[in-house]
Amino acid sequence: MKILVLNCGSSSIKFQVLKMPEEKLLIKGVIERIGEENSIIESKNEYHKMKLNEPVLNHEKGIEKVLSLIIKPEFKVMNDIKEIGAIGHRVVHGGEEFSDSVIINEKVIDVIKSTIPLAPLHNPANLKGILACRSELPGIPQIAVFDTAFHQTLPDYAFRYAIPKTYYERHKIRRYGFHGTSHKYVAGIGAEILRKDIKDTKLITAHLGNGASISAIQGGNSIDTSMGFTPLEGLIMGTRSGDLDPAILIFLEKNENLSADDIDQLLNKRSGVLGLFGQNDMRILEEKYYAGDALAIFVMTLYAYRLVKYIGAYNAVLGGADALIYTAGVGENTPPLRELVAKFLAHMGLSINNELNNKVIRYGEPVDISGKDSKIKTLVIPTNEELAIARDTCILIRS
Ligand code: ADP
Repeated sequence: MKILVLNCGSSSIKFQVLKMPEEKLLIKGVIERIGEENSIIESKNEYHKMKLNEPVLNHEKGIEKVLSLIIKPEFKVMNDIKEIGAIGHRVVHGGEEFSDSVIINEKVIDVIKSTIPLAPLHNPANLKGILACRSELPGIPQIAVFDTAFHQTLPDYAFRYAIPKTYYERHKIRRYGFHGTSHKYVAGIGAEILRKDIKDTKLITAHLGNGASISAIQGGNSIDTSMGFTPLEGLIMGTRSGDLDPAILIFLEKNENLSADDIDQLLNKRSGVLGLFGQNDMRILEEKYYAGDALAIFVMTLYAYRLVKYIGAYNAVLGGADALIYTAGVGENTPPLRELVAKFLAHMGLSINNELNNKVIRYGEPVDISGKDSKIKTLVIPTNEELAIARDTCILIRS
């Protein structure tokens, strides 16, 4: 069965077609700058590569474009769009309703709509993609895979904030957690590498991309995670501040005359590595770190330090972790960060093989970079959220 996987963002659509259950990637691509005059359309596979610049006015037009691309004879993916057996959508927020992936029906669409206030940037775009597919490909089943679903196993003492309970009841203000598809995927592979049943594992998974979150996973269930009500909480990220004293917001409002929107922009778009270092490409930070640049050393250390504090906390809540797993752009490709973390955590008996660590950049395969007698393993596992979405889609369709 050929499965179309879609990740519709506010101004982009990422897509892949996978042949399942063989798990063969047939084509992947992205449309960026939707709504602008110079949208970028890219797609490639083993047979052909294409890059176009032409306006894509909205998500409906974007979906039309994706469907026209994947039947182009040069790509040899399919002759007719009806060969698509199912569509799997990444949906960012499923609120408290969904603890697993679901087949999309009217009720599911209503819940995604009702969750828009919790994810105002993401859920409307996800919904547009679902509705566009429904009109372009009526009758083809669609599946929603939620970023929040995996974290629905958090106990209440981990997901509630210490504010009056009215706000939980009225607005559902609580920790939801994100990147769930990725945390679940790498935890599964981690258990295989440890040669253990996932039910017998205690794992800490660090998904460090431009957005970054870390999770404590016990027996395959997420029991805590660093992103909260929104993806702003937790670790230092590319452009997001992560944790900070909430009183800073009040101070800024009063003393810098910043509005709610200004503060939203400041903390989500102009903070994190960008705010501290001037730009947020970790490759440049790494280059300057190796060159001995004082600011780069400071920022890399700060990034590692915040990570270390969470690892310590999650090691405590897990009662001792079996492994620390790094994934996503920064996690898979930044040896000095992994080295700094290992230095901070030597007292816990965590060590890494430095030679191996330095080789693990764009490795493409899972690697165990643990030191010889390390009590806690360190694994680098490339994430593949699209494959995870295709797997869930395949399972639901067959059931
Ligand atoms: P997202 O999906 O959140 O945009 P990714 O997982 O693609 O994020 O990660 C993007 C981040 O990974 C960027 O900050 C980028 O600098 C970093 N990155 C990508 N490749 C490398 C590399 N080879 N070395 C260091 N950092 C890298």
